[in-house]
Amino acid sequence: MSASTKQLEAFVSDIGDISFKDDAKVLAVKSKDYFWYSPILKDQLDDCVGQLLVQPKSEEEIITVASAIARHRIPLTIRGGGTGNYGQCVPTEGGVILEITKLNKVLKILDGRVVCEAGARIEQVEKAVSESGQMLSMFPSTKRLATMGGFVSGGSGGIGSLRNGMLRDGENITYLRIVTVEEKPRIIELQGKDILKAQHAYGTNGIITAMDYALTPAKDWSHTIALFNNYAAALDFAKQAQEENLDAFLMTVVERRFAQYYRKLTNYFPSELDAVFSMIAPEAMADYTARVKDAGGTVSLAKTLHEIEEANLPPAWECGWNHTTLQALKQEPSIWTYLQVAYPRPFDPKLVERQMKRYGDELFFHHEMARMDGQIQIFALPILRWTSKERTYEIIREMEEKDGCMIFDPHVITIEDGGMKDIDSTQIEFKKEADPYGLMNPGKTRGWRPEMARN
Ligand SMILES: Cc1cc2nc3c(=O)[nH]c(=O)nc-3n(C[C@H](O)[C@H](O)[C@H](O)COP(=O)(O)OP(=O)(O)OC[C@H]3O[C@@H](n4cnc5c(N)ncnc54)[C@H](O)[C@@H]3O)c2cc1C
Repeated sequence: MSASTKQLEAFVSDIGDISFKDDAKVLAVKSKDYFWYSPILKDQLDDCVGQLLVQPKSEEEIITVASAIARHRIPLTIRGGGTGNYGQCVPTEGGVILEITKLNKVLKILDGRVVCEAGARIEQVEKAVSESGQMLSMFPSTKRLATMGGFVSGGSGGIGSLRNGMLRDGENITYLRIVTVEEKPRIIELQGKDILKAQHAYGTNGIITAMDYALTPAKDWSHTIALFNNYAAALDFAKQAQEENLDAFLMTVVERRFAQYYRKLTNYFPSELDAVFSMIAPEAMADYTARVKDAGGTVSLAKTLHEIEEANLPPAWECGWNHTTLQALKQEPSIWTYLQVAYPRPFDPKLVERQMKRYGDELFFHHEMARMDGQIQIFALPILRWTSKERTYEIIREMEEKDGCMIFDPHVITIEDGGMKDIDSTQIEFKKEADPYGLMNPGKTRGWRPEMARN
């Protein structure tokens, strides 16, 4: 249910000189993310639009906004860079969009940690910490636009997950500072494992204003492509390299049918071979090259980031995870959508062979080497030739029931139907504290019921 004109006028009058916009074109742009990857979500979300955009510049201004939101009971959607895939920052009930990108200071850089504001773009934080010889423990390939808060609230892992696990693992995040949405907003500080109360909660339970995030020593990674005669050999190479701890930051196995979409890489990724894209530590390059040779492959590209940029080629992180999907969708948007698959452990490459045979031209595969809960975890984000919702869910069911895979469904908007499967009661309990009127990002968690709201 959207806010009335009266509610919005009262809100505007309460926020004083905090910048806001109500231009229809601006609101249309700021109400979208990358949900268009899914034809199902496109149908569902295309017409959803916010009614007002606010752009606070400080935590103090955020508190003023949160208080006015609570007082006038207006739906509130937080927006970072707007690069999420599942309509995570699409306002399904109109109301106010709070764009947090002006809250963007890097506050402290320590040995192994950075403390920054939530609206800081990931790449900006990366640049700041690079002066201390460090880098982020992981990042999404959308780092140029994506914010630290958006990654923590909407993301799960990415480039670096091969070594450092998923966002929720270990000490990747150890502190979140949160503003509650109440008449008198409070600051709640979550430490250690308590951050799971708000991490990956899609901005449904409090406004994150700052965080503490893990750093690792920076390396001048070599961005490489290794080519193999068949997909099984490419997958075996990557699996073994990861199991034997080859010093890499990213390893993604991409089948030859994707080569047509990597237009800048035609000289390095021909359409008759399968590829492994990696980021390899400089001191591990000799080992890497020998391993590729032993596995029957050849290295077609090995350049530092600086050399990659000079040659106008994409870095390895734009060739894996969801950027692979983007390469195909950019060129053939009406043909493709995608799936997100987590394989049972221990990973069995034979299962991939069976799936590739079963789905033929319907699915093109790429596989991501990662760690989860300290163990090796292989994911795939295959692109799926779009036919219908029924067929999409038939494939999802087959992969779950026959193959024992878990599908993080990218065609749904709730946290539970997507990755988490079950309602996280800890997050819902926290929502009662941080968003007691249930105003934040309505419709994105099944765990919240209207009767839970404070009167
Ligand atoms: C090509 C491509 C590649 C991608 N690769 C990856 C990847 O490797 N790994 C991955 O995890 N994701 C990936 N994503 C998804 C997305 O880019 C990342 O999760 C990104 O970090 C989101 O950041 P954002 O600032 O754009 O968040 P937004 O899209 O703006 O927001 C995401 C969610 O977080 C909430 N939110 C934002 N800021 C706050 C805040 N301060 N407090 C509370 N809630 C907040 C929003 O309401 C929304 O629900 C990819 C997407 C694309 C299109």
